[in-house]
Amino acid sequence: MTFEALGINTSILKALTDAGYTTPTPVQEQAVPAAIAGKDLLVSSQTGSGKTAAFMLPSLTRLAALPPAAPGKTPNQEMQASRARGERPRFKPAQPKMLVLTPTRELALQVTTNTDKYAVNLRGIKAVSILGGMPYPKQMQLLSRNPEILVATPGRLIDHMESGKIDFSQLQILVLDEADRMLDMGFIDDIEKIVEATPDSRQTMLFSATLDGVVGNMARRITKDPMIIQI
Ligand code: AMP
Repeated sequence: MTFEALGINTSILKALTDAGYTTPTPVQEQAVPAAIAGKDLLVSSQTGSGKTAAFMLPSLTRLAALPPAAPGKTPNQEMQASRARGERPRFKPAQPKMLVLTPTRELALQVTTNTDKYAVNLRGIKAVSILGGMPYPKQMQLLSRNPEILVATPGRLIDHMESGKIDFSQLQILVLDEADRMLDMGFIDDIEKIVEATPDSRQTMLFSATLDGVVGNMARRITKDPMIIQI
């Protein structure tokens, strides 16, 4: 099996070649075509299986196929313009198209780094990490660029959501990475709140070491007719 055969965008294929990836891993073979087709996924797989690319390659392929955003000011430019008009600048919320929730800062940073590697030839698609412990002004600056993709730990994301810095009405793809660990860490209420703020029409992909018990219940609640992949 080749990456080409999975239906991945050609600019991303080039980035994969440059990164030295030659062959999809088993989870990628199964997940990528289904996710490009818009299916929800429940995937039981371990770290090291190539799961990040399994959700990121199809997501980037879908995001790259969307019509370009209507020309207009970025939230940053809008703030500058209102300042120039002598008005008190209002922060326009970021409207991400994709959200990846992870249990830890380390995993979030790893997902963001890999995403930038895969998206290096895609103009205008950037991933930004929103993490507990990062200074707020820095995060506001990142959000003001209205990134397409947010990679976040749940607690800090809720803070920004509740203070009106992020609007999920345009969200198309939601990924829960290492969902079992997020539940073990007590993030269930935060996750429920975040999921509720996203449109029902979204595509949802959940990755977890196990799909039993509490995580299985949540997985079934937040997905629609999911394809189940067990590696
Ligand atoms: P993950 O399971 O997503 O944490 O990925 C484990 C590691 O494998 C990461 O360093 C990826 O960059 C790398 N990787 C993922 N998919 C492939 C692939 N198809 N070929 C080579 N390396 C890969």
